[in-house]
Amino acid sequence: MLAQLPEKQMHQIRWLLAIGWLVLIFSLFYDPISSILTAPNNLSSPFRLSTEVFTPQGCVKVQEECLTEHPYAMGARIWWTMIVPASIFIIFVFGHEFWRRICPLSFISQIPIALGWQRKRKVVNPVTGKAYYKPVVVGENSWLGRNHLYLQFGLLFLGLVGRIVFTNSERIILGLFLILTILSAIIVGYLYGGKSWCNYFCPMAPVQMLYTGPRGLFGTQAHQEPKSRITQSMCRIVDNNGQEKSACVGCKSPCIDIDGEQTYWEELKKPGRRLVQYGYLGIVFAFYFYYFVYAGNWDYYFSGAWTHEENQLETIFAPGFYLFEQPIPIPKLIAVFLTFAFFVAMSYLLCFGLEKAYRAYRKQCNKPVSSEQAQHVMFTICTVFSFWIFFSFGARPNLNLLSMPALMGFNSLVVLVSSMWLYRTLGRNREQYNRERLASSLRRQLKKLNLNFSQFLEGRSLNELNPDELYILAKVLPGATQQERRRVYVAVVRETLAEDVVNVRDSTKVFKTLRQALGFNEKEHYTVLNQLLSEEDFENSGIVESRAEKTQRRKGTRTEQRRKGVLDGV
Ligand code: SF4
Repeated sequence: MLAQLPEKQMHQIRWLLAIGWLVLIFSLFYDPISSILTAPNNLSSPFRLSTEVFTPQGCVKVQEECLTEHPYAMGARIWWTMIVPASIFIIFVFGHEFWRRICPLSFISQIPIALGWQRKRKVVNPVTGKAYYKPVVVGENSWLGRNHLYLQFGLLFLGLVGRIVFTNSERIILGLFLILTILSAIIVGYLYGGKSWCNYFCPMAPVQMLYTGPRGLFGTQAHQEPKSRITQSMCRIVDNNGQEKSACVGCKSPCIDIDGEQTYWEELKKPGRRLVQYGYLGIVFAFYFYYFVYAGNWDYYFSGAWTHEENQLETIFAPGFYLFEQPIPIPKLIAVFLTFAFFVAMSYLLCFGLEKAYRAYRKQCNKPVSSEQAQHVMFTICTVFSFWIFFSFGARPNLNLLSMPALMGFNSLVVLVSSMWLYRTLGRNREQYNRERLASSLRRQLKKLNLNFSQFLEGRSLNELNPDELYILAKVLPGATQQERRRVYVAVVRETLAEDVVNVRDSTKVFKTLRQALGFNEKEHYTVLNQLLSEEDFENSGIVESRAEKTQRRKGTRTEQRRKGVLDGV
């Protein structure tokens, strides 16, 4: 949705948000103002301490003891119950691309790049033989490149455990934690180029990934955008002529910032992907459920008393569970960890089991689905459940202060957006994506033909045709010679391979519909591939140059892989 907004404007918005965030962090250390809002006698403030609204006994109890509450600075409450839930809502509704273009932490991680403090290494262009320096990026086959999802999920897990134990209400510790996070992002920004912090380290990145799914509700679809546009990513710069240019250094492939849906389908089998998706559902459940098993009631959570508990650090080794009106002598630190570990393991096993059961059921009904599609269906359901659980609790300490109509309005909004997202996402599959992607390329190539389509389009333009209509048009191609059909086919195959969307080995399957529409058989497809591989232009294009650099990390030249793919296929 924000992909179309000029980078200059977005840059200013990011500055504003980053400054706002820094002010909030500062307020965690020094804030003489906001406690006025929580004073019991401030009748105009919805945040005034007035526990009887939630608890008939007049105080919030933790393990049957009344909490002592005094007017408090609101920094922690604003952070945990307003900003964090708002970010989840934004990601789910507007998609990852929206969040990445405004995220203050992502912006701050780019400071070393903006200042030119960047670790670089010398590389030799394999085509021209010239040496130059380029930012160091995380290797695709390095441990981090393969396993970053485990690392990010582990950080998220520990971060949330730490939140309950240390930072929910301890403002100074929360402030220090946020500063440490900022410093980490800056250090990673120095060590690795591009958005390495976001892609390989940030614990929120897996959350963004799963709440976006293949595409956000109002997200753009990079594969359907005109080719010349810079899509989705904030990895762009404005040149001296005011034109936006890509600033991509290839720090990740495939990259969610370039084409979120392509990345979604390609990374379904990535190590740790299931753990992130299924484990996150367990994390969300464990996080809110723990307040209940710790305090022995829900008032503690819904009143928001945990955002200003005065002795949070003193409870670290106090009994961590209160069950059946009895404190259980397991220290809170361990109890939180155990609760999270238990629910993560349970949700992983349950969802993985359901995924298998769904596949077996479809097979039994003679409507088999691929393991990828079964995974996608379960992922989609898990995301919606996570969203519902999150918004049944997250932000509620504030939402419950709203009038009943406003609260009902918000609840309806949550149901509405999640239903829309579910409807759009559940039936989506990789074939649809590939089909649409090829259709965009096909549209571009058809435009280049000097043919009169108007009699077939009934007043519409090529841009207005959907992928199915484009394929039908390609089938008839009024007045086109065999040579022109072949030209269209070669151009689409060339463009798609060059963009690295499809590899040679899969190309036979991916181009099947288009091939059939244009009247070519599989043998002719291999002839086209061989022709492309021998084209000097193709080899020497900028795309191949960047591929060659990428190939250095992958050990082995891409050209060889391509040739091998063709030969294996033949
Ligand atoms: S667009 Fe390029 S630089 Fe930016 S995150 Fe993606 S791969 Fe990295």
